[in-house]
Amino acid sequence: MLKDSYTEVEKKICAACNRAGRKREDVTLIAVSKTKPVEMLREIYDLGERNFGENKVQELTSKFEELPGDIHWHMIGHLQRNKVKYIVDKAYLIHSVDSIRLAETISEEAQKHQCTVPVLIEVNVAGEESKFGVSLECAEELVKEAAKLPGICIQGLMTIAPYVKDPEENRPVFRKLKELSVDIGRKNINNVHMTILSMGMTGDYEVAIEEGATMVRVGTGIFGERDYGKRH
Ligand SMILES: *Cc1c(COP(=O)(O)O)cnc(C)c1O
Repeated sequence: MLKDSYTEVEKKICAACNRAGRKREDVTLIAVSKTKPVEMLREIYDLGERNFGENKVQELTSKFEELPGDIHWHMIGHLQRNKVKYIVDKAYLIHSVDSIRLAETISEEAQKHQCTVPVLIEVNVAGEESKFGVSLECAEELVKEAAKLPGICIQGLMTIAPYVKDPEENRPVFRKLKELSVDIGRKNINNVHMTILSMGMTGDYEVAIEEGATMVRVGTGIFGERDYGKRH
């Protein structure tokens, strides 16, 4: 039952908030629904969830069409520049900006659609070669450059932590992203708000909350394992 897993995640979020002395409403749960059918999303929607995360443009736009209009759609996956035009006016927040060229494309499309797109800068904190994201060292420069572009509003940082057995191993990763966000925030760069920290997934979202996450992205913990086999 999705209700049980959803309630369980909610409980753990509350407990982590308590441990960290934070308010529950300061953490947004994003239900990561990639590969899952709209019926499952609707079930979670009916339980009150309004934030869904997708990592493919095509999937986000088709689910956007099928489900109620009050859903906040989060683009959390690597974004190709030629696909930006399909989502600029549909994504509530793009979590995965990791290059100035991508930021420029989002800016151009935003101007065409006469909208402002809220984005996060994705940082590859652990420096894993297999992962997207700007390095810790280059993050501030990217923030500064992207902030100059019209039609884009930088709201914070995102990271995908390494896959680990013990979530404690990722605590330093989350701590580093938080520090970076505080450092950048102190510089008062025009058009930059360091209010969102998107970090933590099924395996480690409780630790991420303890370290300051304001958005956690939970897929498996809510919807169960993903079956990629059937899709390819
Ligand atoms: C798939 C995905 C998640 C959710 O992962 P789970 O381990 O299933 O919770 C979170 N963030 C990103 C960027 C993802 O691609």
